[in-house]
Amino acid sequence: MAGTVCAVVERVPGERRVALTPEIAKKLRAAGLTVVLEKGAGVSAAFPDTAYIDVEFVDSAAAALARADVLLKVQPPEDDEIAGLREGAVVIGFLQPHTGDARIKALRDHKITSFAMELLPRTTRAQAMDVLSSQAGMAGYKAVLIAAQVSGKFFPMLTTAAGTIRPSKVLIVGAGVAGLQAIATARRLGSQVEGFDVRPETREQIESLGAKFLDLGVSAAGAGGYARELTAEERAEQQRKLAEHLKNIDVIVTTAAVPGRAAPKIITAAMVEGMKAGSVIVDLAAETGGNCELTRAGETVLTANGVSVVGPTHLASMGCIHSSEMYARNLHNFLSLSIKDGAIALDWTDDLVAQTCLTHDGAIKHAATQQRIEGGAG
Ligand code: NAD
Repeated sequence: MAGTVCAVVERVPGERRVALTPEIAKKLRAAGLTVVLEKGAGVSAAFPDTAYIDVEFVDSAAAALARADVLLKVQPPEDDEIAGLREGAVVIGFLQPHTGDARIKALRDHKITSFAMELLPRTTRAQAMDVLSSQAGMAGYKAVLIAAQVSGKFFPMLTTAAGTIRPSKVLIVGAGVAGLQAIATARRLGSQVEGFDVRPETREQIESLGAKFLDLGVSAAGAGGYARELTAEERAEQQRKLAEHLKNIDVIVTTAAVPGRAAPKIITAAMVEGMKAGSVIVDLAAETGGNCELTRAGETVLTANGVSVVGPTHLASMGCIHSSEMYARNLHNFLSLSIKDGAIALDWTDDLVAQTCLTHDGAIKHAATQQRIEGGAG
């Protein structure tokens, strides 16, 4: 396959990132590939057209798509974008393999070779390509800054002429990549931080950041280093202990997720009712249903007892410059597995290429997705 790599303007409202930065365009050119961009593709991420050297700009997305051997995306391609690609073209990006069945069928039927970066194995070799981690880091960071902004309190302890200010008590729920970055950020702001997770190995990680591990007596280590869903009894136990603990917390940042499922509901309305006036909850899982029962995606809910429940969306996009830089590097590292002599040559013997593939040559290649959509046939 020849080697034209493209990016277009991301159209999803609130999305500011771009999948191809000037730094990566330069690297692709150095590897002998052609780069074609829709005009303005990087503008919302603060990469004006003039920052891209030695690339070709075209006036419309359609013109870029028609040229693409590889399309690099942040958000999944929309119907007309899929239709605008040539048969056999490659798409790499967040493709939401656990949902969006209609789009996956369109990718299959249009014979697009698609790679869903969510499916990338989380192995040591794949770390430099791990978009979930790079974007979660920004999301965790921004969530804490939002909490600090909404809170009516200082985060750090202060000794002033007007008296001593006690540090804010911050609880981070879920200590994956986003949660650990949230803990580190809340610590840097001087607050008293606790973290909890259902995976027991997170205790050491939380403590290594100088925070306290909140032990609720529930452990739910699952397959592949991820959490499994809790049983009803485990959830009840977790919630009883948590409700008591939250009465004394100023700020909660929730980051809990179980891959492919709606976000676990951890903070109930009754728990929020028991919290102090002025407390703040920032729910990083707002886009996937929220970890708090009161979360509304894209809104801040002020409860009758004075608790603010913030449901931010597009958190990674809020740090669009660095999140785009990291994302584009991740995609470049992944694509580099398949660049040979200035052309794209997909290496199906590489497990990272094979396992990240969602659709290829008219078939859904990811087994669980294929079963869900086609009922195991084919
Ligand atoms: P995630 O976004 O899927 O989930 C976030 C966190 O929520 C997880 O830590 C999970 O245990 C926790 N959680 C789920 N249900 C919960 C509940 N009911 N209560 C409290 N917490 C709950 O996770 P992630 O950030 O993508 O990371 C998942 C794992 O993958 C971690 O172990 C991480 O270290 C690992 N990882 C490995 C690599 C690598 O080796 N290359 C790279 C990145 C992440």
